[in-house]
Amino acid sequence: MANKIEIPFNKPPFTGKEKKYILQSITSGHVSGDGKFTKKCSDWFVEYLKCKKALLTPSCTHALEMCAILLDLKEGDEVIMPSYTFVSTANAFALQGAKIIFVDIRPDTMNIDETKIEAAITKRTKAIVTVHYAGVSCKMDEIMKLAEKYNLKVVEDAAQGIMSKYKGKPLGTIGHLGAFSFHETKNVTSAGEGGLLIVNDQKYSDRAEIIREKGTNRSQFFRGMVDKYSWVDIGSSYLMNDVSAAYLWGQLKDLDRIQNNRLRCWELYFQGLIELEQKGFLSLPVIPEDCTNNAHMFYIKVKDLNTRTQLITHLKKNRILSVFHYVPLHSSQAGRKFGRMSGEDVYTTMESERLIRLPLFYGLTSSELNKITDSIYEFFEGLIN
Ligand SMILES: *Cc1c(COP(=O)(O)O)cnc(C)c1O
Repeated sequence: MANKIEIPFNKPPFTGKEKKYILQSITSGHVSGDGKFTKKCSDWFVEYLKCKKALLTPSCTHALEMCAILLDLKEGDEVIMPSYTFVSTANAFALQGAKIIFVDIRPDTMNIDETKIEAAITKRTKAIVTVHYAGVSCKMDEIMKLAEKYNLKVVEDAAQGIMSKYKGKPLGTIGHLGAFSFHETKNVTSAGEGGLLIVNDQKYSDRAEIIREKGTNRSQFFRGMVDKYSWVDIGSSYLMNDVSAAYLWGQLKDLDRIQNNRLRCWELYFQGLIELEQKGFLSLPVIPEDCTNNAHMFYIKVKDLNTRTQLITHLKKNRILSVFHYVPLHSSQAGRKFGRMSGEDVYTTMESERLIRLPLFYGLTSSELNKITDSIYEFFEGLIN
């Protein structure tokens, strides 16, 4: 008989508060975008992030697409990013005709190696996209300095970065533009799918609204700034519906509860597995001094691909679902077509093949967590004997 999974990898966060707001939204007579709950959520983010504008979108993918449109990329312009990331980071810019230039990662944080970026910059380079893997920040000071030196824009793919900081600044607010995801696998969700565009550079504010409203100045019309609205630029339908925003509002109201639970789980994993790291069986995540941890993810890295496959199988036998992560984009079919690697792939492939993500979600209990760490010990004991 096939083993039924007892501890899933993820459960969409749900605290209970969402129901009330969803019902309010449904009965309010306004369920499309930019309703009451959209306003509550975006005001909350503007206040917390101290950004120029926070626009809810149907996904982080869409927020990234908006960034790519805002940058006014021309065919052949180059955009630098890590190869170790989700497809949307690259796809959004490829859609605008940009060439994707992949740069190797640092083995400690799995983030783009800031020391390898300068060698990738050419006359055609327009932007650097930083991905804060597992909610742990890239070396933003170094990256912003490079951007200034070469007059480049910086887009932060902070899909995993909500509530995390770099030198006291929330992720998503350091570059010119930033994006969050509210997919059900992230710390907070807007009923499964959703995202946020964070505008930090004032010059993008008005156009971001227009692009989000199908290329019209409808937002200005509703604010009474123009007396009719019409088609003024390119754009698309990038609004989150208000029922999703109501779900998100419930999550924001319970954010401390969600974050405390996740952070506690993260800490339990770390303390529970530290002995195996000391014995050289695996490595644990690294949180550099300038960075905070939002407990978006708990991953371990084992010796090699083969050990990883065996460990995933072992955990599955114990009815625990653990998963690997990105297949480096530079080696994917579309990655080869729309991009190329700058410099050598020293760590990207090797480190990605060693990485396993363990279950981490709101509501994961300590007894479930202990079962997972026990099962990992059992695996490594089995390897010795
Ligand atoms: C989840 C994620 C995305 C995509 O988010 P969606 O909201 O699902 O579009 C993009 N980039 C990174 C790094 C992610 O983790």
